[in-house]
Amino acid sequence: MAEFNIGEAIPWVPIERGANVPVPGNNMDYRDLVARRVEVGRGVDVDRQLLEELRELERQPDGPGNGGGRPPITGVDDSDDDPTPSSDHLAWYVTFRCIGDWGVYISRRGRAELARFLVRRGARAQQAHDASWYLLRNHETAHFLVDRAVHTLEAVLRAESGRPADLWLHRARSIRNDELEEAVCNAYAYRMAANHPGSPLRAMREFISRQPRGYRDIDFDTARKGRGASPTGMTRFQAESQLLTCYLTRTATTTQRVVGLDSLMGYRNREAGTNGDDILRVSDHEKRILPLYRVE
Ligand SMILES: [Zn+2]
Repeated sequence: MAEFNIGEAIPWVPIERGANVPVPGNNMDYRDLVARRVEVGRGVDVDRQLLEELRELERQPDGPGNGGGRPPITGVDDSDDDPTPSSDHLAWYVTFRCIGDWGVYISRRGRAELARFLVRRGARAQQAHDASWYLLRNHETAHFLVDRAVHTLEAVLRAESGRPADLWLHRARSIRNDELEEAVCNAYAYRMAANHPGSPLRAMREFISRQPRGYRDIDFDTARKGRGASPTGMTRFQAESQLLTCYLTRTATTTQRVVGLDSLMGYRNREAGTNGDDILRVSDHEKRILPLYRVE
C-alpha cells in the first residue's frame, strides 16, 4: 500500500455547484431554503415558538386535534396508525464535496412535525422539543460520519491505484434508498438521543418504527434503555462494517463483510457508538467543523 495514514488530512476534488449530486429533501424548495439558512450552535437549538405550540398541544385533553400552527410538510396526519416521514424529509445532509453548501440542515417545519408526534405519544413539551432536535441532527450527522469514512476508503484506493475513486458519489447516485445506511444513521440518532436524561424513549421508538423501510429497521435494546440500538439483526459494529464494505465494493449487500471498518466512523465513545466527532481535516493545518443550519 502506498503511504497513507488514517488521521492525516486527505485532499479531495470539490464538486461544482449545480453538478448532479443527490440531495435528500429536494422535494422541498431546496435552493430557496438554503439561501435563507441560519447557522446554529452545537447544543439544542431553542425554538420558543415551537415550545409554546407544544405546550399548548400538551394541554389539549384528547391528543391529536389539529395541533395548531402550520400543517405538516409531508401532508401526513399522524393521528392514526399512519406512517411517519423519513428523517431526511425533515432534515438533510449535504456532502463536504459540495463546498458552498456543505452541512446539516434542520427544517423548522420538519422538526415541529416530529416534535408534535412525540407530544401526541405522551412526551412532555420540553422533551419533545429537545428530542426532535437530537434525532434529526444526529441522523444527519451520521450521514457525515459515513461520508467521511468512505472518503478515507477512497484515499486508500487512490493511494494504491493512482486513480481517483468516487465510491461515495457512485453509491449516492446509483442507490436511491440506501436502507442499511438509513438504519445505521437512525440507530446512531436514537443512541445519541437516548443518552439524554428524560428522553421520551417510547415516543421516539414509535416514531422510528413507523418510518419507511431502512429507517425503521432498528433493534431497540430495551435492556439498556435503548442505548444499544442497532440495525435489525446485527450488532452496530457489524452493520457499520457491512455498510462501508458495500461502498467499497460498489455492489449490494452480497459481499463478505470487511470486519473492523466501523472504526472509521470515528466515534469518541467507540464502545457505546456515540459522540461522533464532527471535524473534517482539509489540510495538515486546517480543520473544518460540520456546519449546522436551521432552515424554514
Ligand atoms: Zn438519512
